[in-house]
Amino acid sequence: MEFEITQIYYETPTIISVKFKKENINYRAGTYMVYLLDVQDAKGNFRDFSFASSPTEDFILISTRITGTPYKQKLASLKKDDKVSVKGPFGHFFFYPEKEAVMIAGGIGITPFRSMTKYAIDSKLDTKITLFYGSRTPEEIAFRKELYSWQKANPNFKVVNVISSIKDSKEQWNGLTGFIDEKIIRSNLNHLNNKLFYICGPPPMVDAMFDLLKLIGVKEEDIRVEHFTGY
Ligand SMILES: Cc1cc2nc3c(=O)[nH]c(=O)nc-3n(C[C@H](O)[C@H](O)[C@H](O)COP(=O)(O)OP(=O)(O)OC[C@H]3O[C@@H](n4cnc5c(N)ncnc54)[C@H](O)[C@@H]3O)c2cc1C
Repeated sequence: MEFEITQIYYETPTIISVKFKKENINYRAGTYMVYLLDVQDAKGNFRDFSFASSPTEDFILISTRITGTPYKQKLASLKKDDKVSVKGPFGHFFFYPEKEAVMIAGGIGITPFRSMTKYAIDSKLDTKITLFYGSRTPEEIAFRKELYSWQKANPNFKVVNVISSIKDSKEQWNGLTGFIDEKIIRSNLNHLNNKLFYICGPPPMVDAMFDLLKLIGVKEEDIRVEHFTGY
């Protein structure tokens, strides 16, 4: 199957978003597809990208950090109307609306959470969602305007941004700094029971957050993880 690009743009100074025409595919928020390009590098000619779009939207969106790899350079050079071969959808990082959701995103690990949150809002689900989102700088917060506007319009959705490298930013930041930790998690949740925790990001971050949640008493069966291997 092929996806046709309708728009490609910088989401943040280091993240590119690619919008595709919506094809006739069924996918669930939180899943991913394999994107094949006409390029070969050490990892081959493909990468996995989660859907950043929700199945309720009339486009398909992926967002990715641009690195120096030939694959990413090729991706960044693509233009409107170009076609990309894809396979999928794959994955089991599903959203379970029956339980209050606590999402923890590290950097580009935000993509499946944009999908899940938008899905919950568009489907008028009354699932409470708290999204902890760690970024290096405020400039690197992807989907920033959207997330804030969804929060404003939906009492069930709260986003907690945490900035780890404020010294690298030119922006004034009055919010939280450092890494997502026990204090930040506890002070933004009334308690830790009866919730489903979702973690997504680069593997070291996912593992650190998984260990932290277990340490503060969250049961392993209440934690869902997606490792963005490759970072
Ligand atoms: C289920 C799943 C979902 C995912 N979803 C997403 C998503 O939504 N968004 C996303 O961004 N990623 C996602 N990923 C990760 C993605 O598939 C890639 O592995 C990741 O983007 C890194 O690819 P890369 O080409 O930048 O680096 P890789 O080729 O994987 O290399 C890793 C690092 O090595 C360095 N490097 C390697 N070769 C070179 C070179 N020739 N020149 C310079 N530097 C080099 C780069 O610094 C690079 O960051 C997902 C992964 C999984 C498993």
